[in-house]
Amino acid sequence: MTAYPSLHMMIAGERVSGGGRRTHAVVNPATGETIGELPLAEPADLDRALEAAQRGFKLWRKSTPQQRAAVLNGAARLLLERQEDLARIATLEQGKPLAEARIEVLMNVGLFQFYAGEVFRIYGRTLVRPEGMRSTVTHEPVGPVAAFAPWNFPLGNPGRKLGAPIAAGCSVILKAAEETPASALGVLQCLLDAGLPGEVAQAVFGVPDEVSRHLLGSPIIRKLSFTGSTVIGKHLAKLAAEDMKRTTMELGGHGPVLVFGDADLDRVLDTVVTQKYRNAGQVCVSPTRFIVEESVYDRFRNAFAERAKAIAVGNGLDEATRMGPMANPRRPEAMDRLIGDAVQRGAKLHTGGERVGNAGFFYAPSVLSDIPLDAAIMNEEPFGPVALINAYAGEEAMIAEANRLPYGLAAFAWTQDSKRQQRLAREIEAGMVGINTNMIAGADSPFGGVRWSGHGAEDGPEGVQACMVTKAVHEG
Ligand code: NAD
Repeated sequence: MTAYPSLHMMIAGERVSGGGRRTHAVVNPATGETIGELPLAEPADLDRALEAAQRGFKLWRKSTPQQRAAVLNGAARLLLERQEDLARIATLEQGKPLAEARIEVLMNVGLFQFYAGEVFRIYGRTLVRPEGMRSTVTHEPVGPVAAFAPWNFPLGNPGRKLGAPIAAGCSVILKAAEETPASALGVLQCLLDAGLPGEVAQAVFGVPDEVSRHLLGSPIIRKLSFTGSTVIGKHLAKLAAEDMKRTTMELGGHGPVLVFGDADLDRVLDTVVTQKYRNAGQVCVSPTRFIVEESVYDRFRNAFAERAKAIAVGNGLDEATRMGPMANPRRPEAMDRLIGDAVQRGAKLHTGGERVGNAGFFYAPSVLSDIPLDAAIMNEEPFGPVALINAYAGEEAMIAEANRLPYGLAAFAWTQDSKRQQRLAREIEAGMVGINTNMIAGADSPFGGVRWSGHGAEDGPEGVQACMVTKAVHEG
């Protein structure tokens, strides 16, 4: 059985802890018990990390594609070797079922391997000019990156935040969530053990607002990469704007799922019910608003609720568990508030709507229907195990509902009509659209949103490009 490791920061390749620093108690969300004490950065720690990041950038910007690929491929191999340990640590501190944590390791393996190839394809171009003149367009690493990763994918988020800057030739200071530090440290350690210099990638923890103000207030940092809520994203984007830093913002969503009468309902249900309750709904691309055509509404809603009731909720370390606890005590509180408000406004609760057990942060898989559009849950990202199912009269009304909110991250649609598929692909406002599939992410595919869901993309060639600036050089 993997023990929970002792916690530290990683500054300039050295483990930093103790020394009278403040600490944060890391809690196992399945039991509510404290499993670790995390040291929090003081301003002097952050200054040391910034100085190291500056040195790391000077070093790594000159690295060859072969060196970058060797580190990324080496880290991918180590991640695979350490898959079981890393998955257990992620489940201990975040709660998700082990099977989901193992997939997170594989996501990082795939991404690092993809980026290891992508470093050879950072092409520029030569412009057509008269003889004697030469004009080239090149891409250079943007500089030291400050990256903030949330707790919902404790391994996957740090992998994204570290992989792209390293591939691009940047240095990076990662502040992963204080709730899930050991997973982030485990991913970083694979990169360091694969030969990455300690000044190129570092990990700090702290009081989030103190750390982000300090790092973003420094001219050393040239780019902000943030994953988290829209509210915090807007706050950090303003801090970054003071110094015109580049930004990649992966923010909240409110995933619409359009289910048309001509869809294969059993296949839809097989896919979307599992997808809804993955990671207890704490997924930015989670399907949230089920926008169902009237003709199949009753059947869809009843079958959905039956399947939700059958989901095995329990400790993520138990292989039989299909849904673990929520990650922290704020989430069940948010569920009670949002579901309570919807029911009070007339929504029907078909199952769930309550906490499970006396220990940890468990919440029952929940299904609401007939929810008025002014209920908070129809406008605010619920980020939890609740499906919102409403009936609509045909395509136009369904597209209007999909585009009603200012979010635009992931959207899904189920229909067999090929002309309609094309219309939906064009008209739904989202960064990622899945038609007859829930598979909208992959190492080679840009992951990101539009409008209040943010801008810029992670993964794919776009993930590396986002860590680069363009330079045009004209020689006469
Ligand atoms: P939150 O908005 O306070 O925190 C979200 C993340 O941002 C956390 O990792 C936190 O450490 C970090 N953060 C908070 N304040 C920060 C600051 N000033 N500077 C830097 N980082 C900061 O909320 P929470 O209670 O942790 O989560 C609630 C909401 O966050 C959810 O309802 C969901 O909408 C959103 N969220 C989104 C994602 C995502 O993948 N997009 C992940 C986690 C949380």
